[in-house]
Amino acid sequence: TTPSGHRPKEEKIVVTVRLRPLNKRELSAKDHAAWECIDDHTIIYRSLPQERAAQPASFTFDKVFGPDSITEAVYEEGVKNVALSSLMGINATIFAYGQTSSGKTYTMRGITEKAVNDIYSHIMSTPEREFRIRISGLEIYNENVRDLLNSESGRNLKLLDDPEKGTVVEKLVEETASNDQHLRHLISICEAQRQVGETALNDTSSRSHQIIRLTIESTHRESSDCVRSYVASLNFVDLAGSERASQTNVDGARLREGCHINLSLMTLTTVIRKLRSVFTYVTAVFLVQVISSSLSLCSVKHGQFSNLIGSFLLFFPVSSVGKRSGHVPYRDSKLTRILQHSLGGNARTAIICTLSPASSHVEQSRNTLFFATRAK
Ligand code: ADP
Ligand code: MG
Repeated sequence: TTPSGHRPKEEKIVVTVRLRPLNKRELSAKDHAAWECIDDHTIIYRSLPQERAAQPASFTFDKVFGPDSITEAVYEEGVKNVALSSLMGINATIFAYGQTSSGKTYTMRGITEKAVNDIYSHIMSTPEREFRIRISGLEIYNENVRDLLNSESGRNLKLLDDPEKGTVVEKLVEETASNDQHLRHLISICEAQRQVGETALNDTSSRSHQIIRLTIESTHRESSDCVRSYVASLNFVDLAGSERASQTNVDGARLREGCHINLSLMTLTTVIRKLRSVFTYVTAVFLVQVISSSLSLCSVKHGQFSNLIGSFLLFFPVSSVGKRSGHVPYRDSKLTRILQHSLGGNARTAIICTLSPASSHVEQSRNTLFFATRAK
């Protein structure tokens, strides 16, 4: 509440930026920190003396978190309100977006833990309501959906359209958490499952999206009035490395994979942009940028392939902007289909954009800041 007594506007999409510290490898390679937070809102690029300041050198956001900030602060200021709205029946999604090694998983794990603590303290302090929490976990790799709570048969799961529930993942295991410890245990199973895939397939986490979904239901103990019953999903999404949307050196399977992930990330950015803006022409400008970066992705070594993919990419966003300008293209990727009911409408979204400070990652960091600027 502000001093004048007004509640601050509850933003539908909250975008924050987190800059991690230089790691040991970067320090030992004598890499230097190219980005710096000069206050709570501004991040600047520290160019080397020999560089010309041709690129934007300063970005401003509602909130930026520097290398010394703790996950708790990121949670309190950028996530908490969004996450806790799921206790009141409002769907919520928390994303970590950034290049591989920028701190997405580190941040998302801490955020998930803090949200679970807060959810259970709310439950303890609300004895008049009865809560039920279910959890499911999945990974989207190459547009294939894998169940993180069912490693045996939970592969290549289908998406179905349910007239009442919307898109559902067929056969996805959903466990009911009996208490906070049980919930933490189930979350740790999902996280461990993702790591199993990682060793087997050599760091799939940089190429896959992970979603941990809590479904939180509550009813008033003294009235069965359905008006006073709530149900909502709270999604924790650790996205594939954003460099997958702008990789230049790819071939064969990697190319296909790059384009798949590109599709999911591209669709997600389009969806968020659509939800943000009513000005279609702004979206068109953005999509033109995405198309040109996608074309450069696919054109390096694969002339023929690039034409095909190029025309596909050209056709697909242009048609969604041109003909159906009010249309949000949720159905164009698995990620956005699964999250459809937790994005847009009444739902609330928090996006944490993670950045590496290293000068060797300047281009990717700048791309992430452009994404954050467009999403805010
Ligand atoms: P990503 O998931 O984006 O690929 P990770 O979360 O795995 O990146 O982070 C890469 C490395 O950097 C890990 O060793 C992690 O512990 C470390 N790291 C990331 N963010 C921070 C931070 N804010 N403070 C300290 N270490 C961090
Ligand atoms: Mg990761």
